[in-house]
Amino acid sequence: MCTLQKLIQDLNITDFAEQFYLKEQLIISVGKTSNHVVLMAQLLSQGKCHGIHAFIVQIRSEKDHTPLPGISVGDIGNKIGYNAMDNGFLRFDNVRIPRRNLLARYSRIEKDGTYIPAKNPRLAYGTMVFVRALIVGGCSKSLAQACVITTRYSAVRRQTEIRPGGEEPQVIDYQTQQEKIFPLLAAAYAIFFTGDVMLKEYVRINADMEKGIFDEMAALHGLAAGLKAYSAEITSNGIDKLRRACGGHGYSHASGLPKIWTYITPACTYEGENTVMYLQCARYLVKQYAQAATGQKLVGFMSYLNNPVKQRSALNDTLNMSDMIEAYEHTAARLIKVAATRMQSLMKSGVSVEEARNMCGVPMVSAAKAHCEAYVVKLFSSVVNRNDLEPSVARVLQTLCKLYAVYGINERLGDFIHDGFLDGQQADMILNQTLSLFAEIRPNAVALVDAFDYPDKILQSCIGRYDGRVYEALYEYAKTSPLNKQEVHGSYYTTLKPLMEGKLKFDSLSARL
Ligand SMILES: Cc1cc2nc3c(=O)[nH]c(=O)nc-3n(C[C@H](O)[C@H](O)[C@H](O)COP(=O)(O)OP(=O)(O)OC[C@H]3O[C@@H](n4cnc5c(N)ncnc54)[C@H](O)[C@@H]3O)c2cc1C
Repeated sequence: MCTLQKLIQDLNITDFAEQFYLKEQLIISVGKTSNHVVLMAQLLSQGKCHGIHAFIVQIRSEKDHTPLPGISVGDIGNKIGYNAMDNGFLRFDNVRIPRRNLLARYSRIEKDGTYIPAKNPRLAYGTMVFVRALIVGGCSKSLAQACVITTRYSAVRRQTEIRPGGEEPQVIDYQTQQEKIFPLLAAAYAIFFTGDVMLKEYVRINADMEKGIFDEMAALHGLAAGLKAYSAEITSNGIDKLRRACGGHGYSHASGLPKIWTYITPACTYEGENTVMYLQCARYLVKQYAQAATGQKLVGFMSYLNNPVKQRSALNDTLNMSDMIEAYEHTAARLIKVAATRMQSLMKSGVSVEEARNMCGVPMVSAAKAHCEAYVVKLFSSVVNRNDLEPSVARVLQTLCKLYAVYGINERLGDFIHDGFLDGQQADMILNQTLSLFAEIRPNAVALVDAFDYPDKILQSCIGRYDGRVYEALYEYAKTSPLNKQEVHGSYYTTLKPLMEGKLKFDSLSARL
């Protein structure tokens, strides 16, 4: 039987946490550190452009680390976070590199400049898919860390009173606090399982590609682009929500939350800016819709586009997962249809495909988000309904999964009731069930975050400590502020004292400032 701890250990969450800890200190990048780079650049030969290729280029001397002739390189300055990452600028002025520096596993260039393309252009997708799968996994881990801190702190922090004269409750007992934390806790698990499955799919499909089978690469590439954007968006927005859920202490570096957020929020930008990623995913979806419309049988996670369109959902308060998955897939299919038919009618009216894509950008992004959401709900459900899970673990995870699904419907209710697939009564039921699930999760919330097994060393949070000794830790943290080195700060003698003694006037003080 698979326990929660074992399920998480199988997925290596603490290994990743350890890497994260080290990476914060040891990241090497182009600005001041690297002496060679892998440069992505256009390959031009015999007057033709063959697109972006990877080249190894030496940029600094191996003797004294100075930039080589024609190369300007340096640091780009402070960023909102990620400052241990040596991001740099790099400029080339007539720099020549040998032909063999082209990374030529799949495509190459002959001595006479003849270009030999890759057997299949999709080969280049592999690395991108792999990196995006890692980003999805990384997002879940950052979101999980923020959930650990916020849940533990919310179990320690007491405020106000629910009944007049009663005891001050732990803030986690407020329904509004549960609404801030539990759906994100469910999302951390959901995205965690998604990253794991993406990596396994990558390994499987990559092995097929090595054998010359490319059938599923485009599908995985489209999905990976969308899931990268989806995970990064939930994580970045979610951690900020969790920070605010910790009140004033969430804003302090003592909480550990700002560091987690600044570390992961660039995932919305690097390795493909999120909107551009959603659009890439949507382009694939629109193509698949066109194929399904001509009666072609779609396979794998796209097969829902072949489903006959149903008018009404049977979803009721038993929250059957197959009804919820059906609602998500129905809504995704509808939104893909909206984007695709809009594009088709623009193109019929003479608009070019590129212009039409731009004129459908917003509905395309909505379609991609809905598709990703449907994929994650289905995948989450398949993991928590595995029959090798210990029954008590399965029950708790199934509750989380249900919450993830109903909360998502409640958040985007308009999309689900737009064509009457769900109606007003079902919308009321969804809200009631969401609130009941909060109450059901509450007794297990701390155990669910402890199960991530992040040691205090990784969290570096005064308020998310395992032992709950929040206030002692905050006090010790505050004492280490450099301003506390002297009991009476120097500014007292230079400014405050003369001001209080009338020797310094406010006018001259503001002139000094
Ligand atoms: C922390 C961090 C680390 C990084 N590390 C590296 C690194 O190691 N190596 C490296 O090469 N790069 C790195 N980058 C750069 C990163 O890859 C780019 O920032 C990213 O690809 C987005 O490109 P951009 O900055 O040009 O954004 P832009 O393309 O300028 O985006 C600006 C806006 O335009 C919109 N937009 C752009 N194109 C389209 C389109 N086709 N359709 C609709 N809207 C569009 C975007 O949605 C966005 O809203 C890093 C970035 C960050 C933040």
